[in-house]
This record gives sequence, structure tokens and C-alpha cells, in this order.
Amino acid sequence: MKNINLKELAKAAPQGEAAAGAAPALRRLLKKTAKAALDLLYPPSIYCIACGNLIDASRPYALCDACRERFGWANDRTCDKCGKPLRDAGARTLCANCADGGQLFEKGCVCVEYADCRELLYGFKYGGRTYYGAHIARVMHDRLLWEAHAHGAPPQIDLLLPVPMYGKKERKRGYNQADVAGRQLARLIALPYDRTLLERTRSTRVMSSLSAEERGANVQGAFALARGREEAVRGLRVMLVDDIFTTGSTIDACAETLLSAGAVSVRFIVFAAGADAGTDAGDLRGAM
Ligand SMILES: [Zn+2]
Ligand SMILES: [Zn+2]
Repeated sequence: MKNINLKELAKAAPQGEAAAGAAPALRRLLKKTAKAALDLLYPPSIYCIACGNLIDASRPYALCDACRERFGWANDRTCDKCGKPLRDAGARTLCANCADGGQLFEKGCVCVEYADCRELLYGFKYGGRTYYGAHIARVMHDRLLWEAHAHGAPPQIDLLLPVPMYGKKERKRGYNQADVAGRQLARLIALPYDRTLLERTRSTRVMSSLSAEERGANVQGAFALARGREEAVRGLRVMLVDDIFTTGSTIDACAETLLSAGAVSVRFIVFAAGADAGTDAGDLRGAM
């Protein structure tokens, strides 16, 4: 990026109404500078983030048309409780997990079927492609708008929190992908956001090798509110953000912590979940 003296630019800039038509070159330069700065943060989307095909930057969510077409967007038949896509055409309204009952979270919202975005999530989670976060947050935002439209009112949320990673693991990876997407979602929906309030207090085992019961035990009691902030969620309606949802053990363990600290309700939004009957996102979720 070129070195530009902003003070000089400000001095040269015409004031008031005259500015609009008087200095197109200056405005172009400012626009270019701002874009260059943004591009450093978010590389321009010239490749589809799901398949790598060349696209132009105007494509929504940085997905090519083919990927947008083939993605199983979770807005048709979904579980009434966790939001997971239901693959069969039957009359049931709950996935197998939620039909068993006992969930502590109030309701979940899923954007897309995991099987369609496996590589995308792998790159986001393990490949350092944090700039995917902006696109994922945009998908989540639109999903919430759709939800609000479908139910006549947006869900009432007071605070957005990312599902935390264990500190040591996050330092090693350099980021928590749930936080990367979560903080941008918070900006888009203008909600208070806190990345440090909820903590993972111990390292948990890889989930993919575990049964549903073992998954529950694995994350049970693995979350706590940051020291000195035990009262911070009292009376609040909280929404958790994560990249992937499987059996709900992690979300429920977070919900348990938040509810016992006085939260009124705990919802969640995730980018992807395996459709009920068949697919399982455990292999990715496992490394958290
Ligand atoms: Zn694509
Ligand atoms: Zn469900």
C-alpha cells in the first residue's frame, strides 16, 4: 500500500457541499486507500470459498453460483428445537436427538448442511483462513433475518457469546473460529458481544471417536464464567455462536453453565450441522 499522509489530504480536501463535486481525484484516492486497508483484512473474494472456482467479488457470501445452488440451506425442513436439517419427507418436527429430550438450550439455528461445506469449514478452522469469517457471519446474519421473517419477530437476544476454545489450544491455533465469525455477526446485528466471558476450563477430547454419552461426559463441566464475572449473564437472554453443531453436547454444557449463572435462556446459531439421519460432523467438531 502507498504511504499517504492523511493530514495533507485533510488539508487539501474541500469543505462542505463543494467537496462532493470538487475533488473526484481525491475521493477516488481515499476510496482506494480504504479499500486497500480492507483488503489487507479480508482478501478480495476472487475464489469461491467452498470450491475454489474463480468468481467475481459481487457474488454473495463469496460462493460461486454452483455452490450456492448445491448447498443444502437449512431453511426448509429443520428440527424445531436445534434447527438441524431433516432429510426425510416425514411429518416429524424434531431430529432424533431432540426427540429424546433433555436439551438445556432453548432453540438453535443452523445455516447449511455440513456435508456441503466440509472443505470450507476445514480451511476456516485449521487452514488459517480467518477471512472466511466475514462471509460466514454474513450467512448467519441473513439466516437470522430469515428466521425473524418466518416467525414474525426476531429472537430476543441480549448478548452474543462464542463457544470458547481451551486457552492453550486457541493460542496454538492463533484464533477461535467461533469468535472470528461471532464478533463480525455481533457487528452486523448490533448486539453486545463478549469473547472472554465464557471460558473452557479444560482441554476436551476429540469428539469424533466418542459415543453420544461419552460426548456429553467429555464436555460436562468444561465451561465456566470468567473469574469475577459470575453475575454477568444474570437476567440475560444469551445466544451462542459456533461453526459446527453435532449432538449438542457442547452447546448444552455451555447452556448449563450460563443458566446456572442466572441467564434467562440460551439459544445458538451455527454455520453448519449434519442433516439428521446419516451425516455426522463429528470428525471436525472433534478437535475443539
Ligand atoms: Zn463454488
Ligand atoms: Zn434437533
